[in-house]
Order: sequence, then C-alpha cells, then structure tokens
Amino acid sequence: MANCNLFFSDLKSGRCSKVVEARLLRFWEARNIKRGGELMWMDLVMVDVNGAMMQAVIGFSLLPKHRERLTAGTVFSVSGFDVSRCAQNFRLTDSPLMIRFNENTSFEELAEPVSPLPEEAFRFRNQSEMIGLANSNTQLPDVIGELVSVRSTVSDPPEEKNRVMVTVKLESEETVTLSLFDSQAVAFHRQLEAIRDDPRVIVATIINPKMVGGRLFLNATSGTHVYFDKNTIAGSNRFYQDTGLQSVAPLLRSYAKVETMTIAELNGFIVSAASQEIDFLCTGRVDRVDLDKGWCYVACSVCSKKLKQTVSAFTCERCNNSHAVGTLRYRVEMAISDDTAEGTFVWFDGVLTKLHSLRASEAAQMLAADGVNPEETMIPQFIAEMEGRTYTFQVRVNAYNFTQHHKTFTITHVAKDHGRLPVDELENNVSIPCVVKTRVQMFVDYIAYQK
Ligand SMILES: [Zn+2]
Repeated sequence: MANCNLFFSDLKSGRCSKVVEARLLRFWEARNIKRGGELMWMDLVMVDVNGAMMQAVIGFSLLPKHRERLTAGTVFSVSGFDVSRCAQNFRLTDSPLMIRFNENTSFEELAEPVSPLPEEAFRFRNQSEMIGLANSNTQLPDVIGELVSVRSTVSDPPEEKNRVMVTVKLESEETVTLSLFDSQAVAFHRQLEAIRDDPRVIVATIINPKMVGGRLFLNATSGTHVYFDKNTIAGSNRFYQDTGLQSVAPLLRSYAKVETMTIAELNGFIVSAASQEIDFLCTGRVDRVDLDKGWCYVACSVCSKKLKQTVSAFTCERCNNSHAVGTLRYRVEMAISDDTAEGTFVWFDGVLTKLHSLRASEAAQMLAADGVNPEETMIPQFIAEMEGRTYTFQVRVNAYNFTQHHKTFTITHVAKDHGRLPVDELENNVSIPCVVKTRVQMFVDYIAYQK
C-alpha cells in the first residue's frame, strides 16, 4: 500500500482508486437554511504530507457509514473516491479540485502513516489580501490575530438570535471586526466563558471578508472554527511574540442584550445578517433631516399602517377596511453619523412623540391651516432643529430594514441626557422621559419662527 500513495497534487478529475494519506483538520455540517436547517452533507478539510489542503465532501446518504469516525486531527487513508472540480465561489482550499466520497470509498484511520503529516494547516491572509477578496465571494480564508475586545448579545439562557463581535488586531496593526452568528455566537461565548484567563490570540477559519463603508469586516461561516492561544501551533507562535498587547480583562464584558455599536458596525451587521432582529445602542450626530421623505403620515388607528386616501375616505389594506379611522403619526428619516460611518435612521411615532412631548397631530395643528393635508406641510421646526444634535439611541435591526435599494435603521428609544440607557430599563421597556422642550416652549418657538 505504501508505495502507491498519492499526493493531493497528483489528483485529477474522475474516479481515483489509489490511496491518499491525510490528516483530517476540520469538518462541519452543511445545512440548508431555507429548508429548516436540513442536513445536506458534511464538509471536510484535510492536509497531506506536503502540506497541501483538500476539501472532501461526504453526502447525506453516506454519513451514517463515516460520521462516527470523524475526529479532527486524526490521520486517515482514503481510497476509492471521486475527484471533481470545486465550485468557483467560496473556495475552502487553494486546490481547484475536491474529493467526493462514494459508496466504495474506503476511509480508514491510520495509526502509522508512511511519513509524518503536518499537525495543522491554515490559509491565513493578511489585511490587504482580505480587502482584495472582500465581496468577491471567491475564497474563504483563515485569519489570525490578537484579541482586542469581544462584544456579545448572548444571554443566559441564550435567546433565539445572537451575535458576537470580536475585535481582532492583525499583524498590520489594523483592527478588524469578526462577527459570529446565532449558534456559533453562543458556542464562542461559552468557549470564552470556560477559559479561566482571557486568551490573547485567536485563529478563525473559513471566514468571509466584506467591505462595508470602506471598512473590512470578517463574517463567520458554517465552516468557521475558532482556536485560542496555544491550541494551534500558529497561535502559539503568535502568543509568544512580544507584541506588548495586554490581556484585556475582562474580555467578555458583562453582556447586556443591548450593546453599543458604531454606525459602521451597524452597516456591516445588516449586510451579513438580514434575518436577525437585535437591538443595539448607537451614538451619532444628525447630519441631515431628509425633507423629501416628509415628516408624518396618516396611519390606521387600529394597526398603524399607512392608509390609502380615496376621494372620500381612507382605506386600510391590512385591516381590509375601506373606511378606516386615521391618526397622524411621525415618520422622519435622518442621516446620522459617528466617527466611523453614516447611516439612514428612521424615527417613528412613539420615539418622536416622547422626545418632543408632542403628538404628530398636535404638531400638525400648529403648522397647518384647515383643510391642508398635514403630510404636505413643511417639516416642523423642532424636528428640523434636530440637525447637528448628538443622540444616543437604541436601534432595532431586522429584515424589514434591509431591502436591495434602501437600508434604514429604526430608532426605538432615545437615551436621557444622550447618555447610555440603563439596561434594566430597556429590558423592561420602561418609558424613558425625554423632555427636550415643553409643549408650551415649543409653541412659543413656533410663534417666533412664524414671524
Ligand atoms: Zn389597519
């Protein structure tokens, strides 16, 4: 057997009956998210004696035969498999080929390989290489760096949607945000909690680089494995480099459900996880109030959806009511920025009513003459004056915010004194008094403005 061994570099498309000796580095399940997470196949990444990496796939029907033997780090002899070209997109190795197990594939653990095999293999890319790969979806490289901070939405017990954002310092001294989602976020959080001392070095595999607002973001994929400190040789080497980085204690901060986020991070968040609905805290300055979008709309008094005006009445399509009762509600779009980026934020009725202590209908009464559609009146001065002000606010991110052409974030709370909201208040959804001006003052301002 020993004299007919092949290397991964010898493989050609078609059936292969010869033997390859390789170490199984990592494996993971490929699931169909659109079909309720149905298991489709198992992805494996292996390394041969030359250090060449190869992707292998075990189809669903063959999994019962091999699954139990899959152990990361174990050396196997593989023979009798198919070799095919891998997809152009999301490549896991440098090879254009991949191994597919078939019914005749022999996959046996090997106690004594012919030659010693590398203990590990990664495809680390530096910052400029990752920027080159970003948004191309061609390659899913690995990353190594130093842990600067970790933010997590994982609570105990974990709720449905979760996200962990890890700030990683690369060799170039630049920092980049690595995001993990849902079950991987929970696993990462738990892994970190279980470590007595905060780790300093992180290795993450099969990540998807994205550019958002001119900044590089790294998103975890289903194939992402995370290793800390000396769990890998590469990590260990980095660990013993004298980098001067102090362990950040505690790395995993007390993790409220609501975490602060920069607007660049918020923009990145939406790109990567449109299905998630999570609240975050942001602080930003209002650059512009979007006057074109108006400031209010006539809403159904039952469901708050925008009503359709017919000649004589208002129709609510959601309630299927052709004579709906309308109430005026705020809806104002603003461009808000911080040091990192600008985003489009929508202030809805509740939060603006609370902020200004004035209902939209009352504002309309002050502004409009009888018979004038309030939706067509000028934006109230107290809203226009929000321009240039800085607010700390809570943002809800969900799929609704993200369409192909329009990306907005919904502001759900504003912090008192522009400071941070106490977490317990948020969780209990206690209304936060936020009186900027009293109604009387505002009316006085309004009169002054009219002159
Ligand atoms: Zn309705």
